[in-house]
Order: sequence, then structure tokens, then C-alpha cells
Amino acid sequence: MKAAFIEEHGNLKQLKIGQLPTPKLKSNEVLIETKFSALNHIDIFIIKGWPGLSLPLPHVIGSDGSGIIKEIGTEVTQLNVGDKVTVNPGLSCGKCIFCLSGKQNFCKEFSILGEHQWGTFAEYFKVPEINAIKIPDNYQLDDAAAVPLTFLTAWRMLTTQAELKEEEFIFIHGAGGGVSSATIQIAKYLGANVITSTSTKEKMKKALELGADYVVNYVEDPEYNKYIYTEITKKQGVDVIIDSVGKATFHSSLRLLKPGGRLVIPGATTGPISEIDLRQIFWKQVKIIGSTMSNQKEFQEVMNLIFLGKLKPIIDRIFPLENIIEAEQYLSEHEQFGKVILKI
Ligand SMILES: [Zn+2]
Repeated sequence: MKAAFIEEHGNLKQLKIGQLPTPKLKSNEVLIETKFSALNHIDIFIIKGWPGLSLPLPHVIGSDGSGIIKEIGTEVTQLNVGDKVTVNPGLSCGKCIFCLSGKQNFCKEFSILGEHQWGTFAEYFKVPEINAIKIPDNYQLDDAAAVPLTFLTAWRMLTTQAELKEEEFIFIHGAGGGVSSATIQIAKYLGANVITSTSTKEKMKKALELGADYVVNYVEDPEYNKYIYTEITKKQGVDVIIDSVGKATFHSSLRLLKPGGRLVIPGATTGPISEIDLRQIFWKQVKIIGSTMSNQKEFQEVMNLIFLGKLKPIIDRIFPLENIIEAEQYLSEHEQFGKVILKI
């Protein structure tokens, strides 16, 4: 099969297009003929590699993908050859106490498709049957590839982890990313007052179109926290903050929280190490909550809303598989608003 893969870790130039053997199925797995894949920041982390990561090479990246089932394992019962599907990229063992109690993303073997198992930037990829979900006939395969990782991440953050309520103020850092644009939509769907930040006038306009109530420009107004506190929340502070920026904003996020507020951390793109003024935590009785991916139930919940048209993926651009390096470059320069897609 044709695939985009790495033969050694390094920069984007390590990505090659070539022929690799089609994955062989285990009894509980399905083989999918890929139609569309979506890029995620994790692609670049995997290409770079990290201490302790030892992947058998060559390795195919790609965590989101949609397509048509080509082959099914002997124990597959719910899906058939020819079904149009998209997948939950969170893979787990299926046997441990966490998996059996529906907490798949707590599994010791939890990993993301394309991380330890070959991913979706190829003509074929495989997943356990439980990870694949049928797409309604009227739903587009490109949209279906754009949805899973970002929407399931955003759904878990706002529902299970932050317990966001109607009328609450939420501040989402950086509107342009795939997870952020999903988070804005879900927060609005849940009835919150949505504040977000971005860097250009054009992205500000798009964030408003997505449903944000207030957009601040962190380039033009470095004092945006003051504005949010004073003008938007009338000196009350924010109930929920989603901060994946990390080191650069962690402290100011803590300060901006209302007493009893929740700070959700799904990542740390500017660096993972930060000092904390512990007084900000106990005096204001705030909660700092981590969040990663989702469990199977949360995936089903958010996909139902997607298929009903209540939430819509935003596709920024579609590249052919052959232009994978250009596409990853585009994503890493944060030029996009929404998802960057590959047509396989
Ligand atoms: Zn498990």
C-alpha cells in the first residue's frame, strides 16, 4: 500500500512516501481503506520522537481517518465489509479494570492511533472494531475524518472534566487550533458565555462565526487578561479556562479564574514546567484538571451530536497525501483555522 512514513526520527524531511505492506488483522480488528485523514500536532511529536520512545521503523503516522471497511477479523460482529466508518483514535487493551469499567483512556496501554500502531496516512489502516463507528449515508467522509480526535478531546474537557454549566464564563486560549475550534462550538452548545483569544483580525472574525461571544487579540492587546476580567466578567473572573499553552500563560490563567473556578490543561505547547503560586489555588479554592482524549462513551456522545448536525468540523484546507510535508509545515506554523486534511 502507498503510505507516508518515517524511517528515522527527526524533522519533517524524514517523511517519505512509498510502498509498505498492508496491515494484517487480528480477530477483533477491521481493515479500513482510507479516504481522508486529518493532521494533528501529535504527528510532529512522533516524527521528532521523545526519550523512551522506541518505535519499530518504518512507522506510519496519522491519528484521524475515515474510509470504507475492506476486511473484518473473525470475531468482528457489528461491522461489515463496505461500511463507511470513522474511528476513535484512542487505543486501549480492552481487558484491564479501566477498560472493563469504561475508562479506556486510563488504561496503562492507552495510546493514540499513529503513535505506537501504524496510523492513517496510508491507503489502509486497522483498528479494533470497538474503535470504529458507522457514518450515516448523508455524512461526508472528509468531515468524518476531521472530527474525532479534536471533538472527543473537547467534549471530555468540557463535560466530564470541567462540568461546564449554562451561563458560565469560559475562556479558551488560541481559537485557531483544531481542538479550540471544537471547544468553542461545544461550549456554545452547552450554553456558556464563550471568550477566546487569537492573533489576527481574520481569525477573530472566524471565531465569532463559530459561536464565540467575545474574542480578544493577544498580539494587539497583551493586557487581554485585564480586559477579560474587568470588561467582560465585570471583575468576577472566569469560571472555566482551557489552557493548552502551558508555561507562557499558566500563571495568568490561574489569576483570571473566579473563586471555585476550574483550569483545564489538555497540553502545554510553550513548555511543561511552570512555578505555581499555591495561594492562588487554596485561597480561591480552584481546581486544576488534566484531560487527555476521551473514553468510548464520550466518543459516542459527541459523534451523535456531530451526525445530528449540532456540531460541525471546520476544515481549513485539504492536501493530497503526496504533499504531506507541506501540510504538516502549514499546521506547525499555526496558519490554519480548523483542521488540515489529507486526501488519500
Ligand atoms: Zn486496558
